[in-house]
Amino acid sequence: MRFSVLGSGSRGNATLVSSGETHILVDAGFSRRETRRRLAQSELAPADLSAIVLTHEHGDHARGAGVLARADGIPLWMTGGTLEASRQFLRGAEVVHRLRPGRETGIGSLRILPFATLHDAADPVAVVAEDSATGLRLGIATDLGRSTAQARHFLQDCDGLVVEANHDEYMLWGEAAYPAAVKNRIASSCGHLSNQAAAALLDEIWSPRLSAVVLAHLSEEANTRARAERAVEGPLRRRGFRGVLHVAQAATPTPPVDLAALRDRPAPSQPSFL
Ligand SMILES: [Zn+2]
Ligand SMILES: [Zn+2]
Repeated sequence: MRFSVLGSGSRGNATLVSSGETHILVDAGFSRRETRRRLAQSELAPADLSAIVLTHEHGDHARGAGVLARADGIPLWMTGGTLEASRQFLRGAEVVHRLRPGRETGIGSLRILPFATLHDAADPVAVVAEDSATGLRLGIATDLGRSTAQARHFLQDCDGLVVEANHDEYMLWGEAAYPAAVKNRIASSCGHLSNQAAAALLDEIWSPRLSAVVLAHLSEEANTRARAERAVEGPLRRRGFRGVLHVAQAATPTPPVDLAALRDRPAPSQPSFL
């Protein structure tokens, strides 16, 4: 099982998840041309996609879904509420399947388990993708609002996690040039997760099988890659995490992460005191 965050931030989000010949996009917030360009870095084209799974209807997650579905014959998966709220991106010619929070769905060799989030969209979900053959699990949770018991339940025991680290709390209330109403919305329980909240979530759901973490959906006004990484890396490493940590960028895909290779790598040798 491999994945790459093709891009993440308020201008667009899409994560490629692959298992054998099954390739899916979780969210499609880029134009078809831009999606094609980013997929090419994994030597794929839109027509190779088995499905697009939408977490919610906000443009930065959904604006490319309709055109990709129509032009390349890619089926879409989303909740009923997301479908109703996504009409602006759809023309009725797309094949749309229903996602139900808490209920697993098979797409090729992947199992997709969506769960509800508190974000301010019609019927938003985050997802866990599980490789049927290997049991490897990848959680993708951006636009969380806040961490809930439900989110912690579904995201525990994952091998890989794409987790929102949207803003640094001090930058948001200090130098960020957002109007007060936007700051309030971002910081609210139905807005976005801060670096500090992401670190607390990772501290709670960390398990020895976690081998890859990608921080995502960074605000351009109220965060930096260094701040996001600093907030999360120390607490994670102290827990015993020795995997890879990436920060997803808006403009370029993260390097592909191979969860099977990370799981199968040898344990570090014990220091010898003899
Ligand atoms: Zn959103
Ligand atoms: Zn978003």
